[in-house]
Order: sequence, then C-alpha cells, then structure tokens
Amino acid sequence: MPISPRLTSYLQDFANRLPNGTSSTAYTSILAALNGSPLLLQEAELAALDKFAKFDFIVTPTGKAAAYDSSGGGTILIAVDSAGNLTQQGMGTFVLVLGHEVKHANRTETYEATRKSFNDGVANLAGKPGMQEYTRLLLTSQSDSAYDEAVAHITGWNDLVSYVRHSNPSATLEQVKNEALGYSQHFLKPGTTIPVSD
Ligand SMILES: [Zn+2]
Repeated sequence: MPISPRLTSYLQDFANRLPNGTSSTAYTSILAALNGSPLLLQEAELAALDKFAKFDFIVTPTGKAAAYDSSGGGTILIAVDSAGNLTQQGMGTFVLVLGHEVKHANRTETYEATRKSFNDGVANLAGKPGMQEYTRLLLTSQSDSAYDEAVAHITGWNDLVSYVRHSNPSATLEQVKNEALGYSQHFLKPGTTIPVSD
C-alpha cells in the first residue's frame, strides 16, 4: 500500500523543516518504517485523518526518542541531533517507538476522556464540605494511564513484528527480539529461551 498523499505531505513538511531536509535520517527512517511495516502504516494513515497535524522534531542528544503532543492539532515528535539525524538506535527500535507514539495519537479521545473524568471527579469531591477521600480517583487515573501506555507499547511491538515479517515472512520471535534491542526486555524476560518451531 503506497503512503497516502495526506501523510506524504506531512512527511514532506517535516523534511523541509529538518536541517538537512530529505537527506536527514530522521526523514528517511520514517519513510523506511512506514514502507516496511504495513501495520504501522495502517495506524499512521488512521492518525493522519484527524489525530495529528504534523510530524515535528526535538533536538536532543539524549532522553526521549519520540513523543506525542496532543495540543495544537497533535504532533508526533521525533528526537534528532543538531544535523537533523535520528538519535534512535536501529530501525527496529525506531519502528517500535514510532508505532508507540502513533498509537497514542489514535487514542487521543480515550485519553482525554479519562483525564476529564479524573478532573471532574476531583472538582466534585473538592466542592463537598469536610475531608474527602481521593484514593479511588487516583487509583483509577493510575490504572488508566498504565493501560494507555501498555496499549501503545504492545502496538509498537506489533508494528515491529509487522516490519520484520514484511521483509522475511518466516522470521522467528528470536529475530524480532534481535531487532527490538533493549525494548525486548519489556516483553520477554531476559534470558528467556525462545523455542524454535519447525
Ligand atoms: Zn507512551
């Protein structure tokens, strides 16, 4: 499936703002990720319909590899160095991280609804006389956030599986794990022996 004109225009706009334009690995890597992972492309096309307005970048030598900012129409932020090149190590992990943030974009309404419900709940309790119990609201808020992160992360993993299997349909879990680098520890216990099926 080719990248839609709408998503292509976001990518072009992103490249135009990078210090080295279309030569920046931040740009070529997004293209490679979308073209290499059918599942990621599907999620990104869905998000591009109305969940984000642009890709942008943060110049950072360390720290977050990517982020999603829901304000101002939604922005997927990619960490780059001062030359506009990707700071994320390896295509596999980039696919996972990008997929994670794109899923956040696609879950904006759910996230905003749970945040509103928490804020409304706090305001409601705070308006009552006497001492109030906020524990239940905090517990719900924490578990909603954890759920949101888990869904985003599992989607990132599935986008990575799609990426690895797109070029090698018979790829094993071990091969996916090798592409995930340190992120594999979020899904598989370190030292786990993966049985090879035949
Ligand atoms: Zn996240």
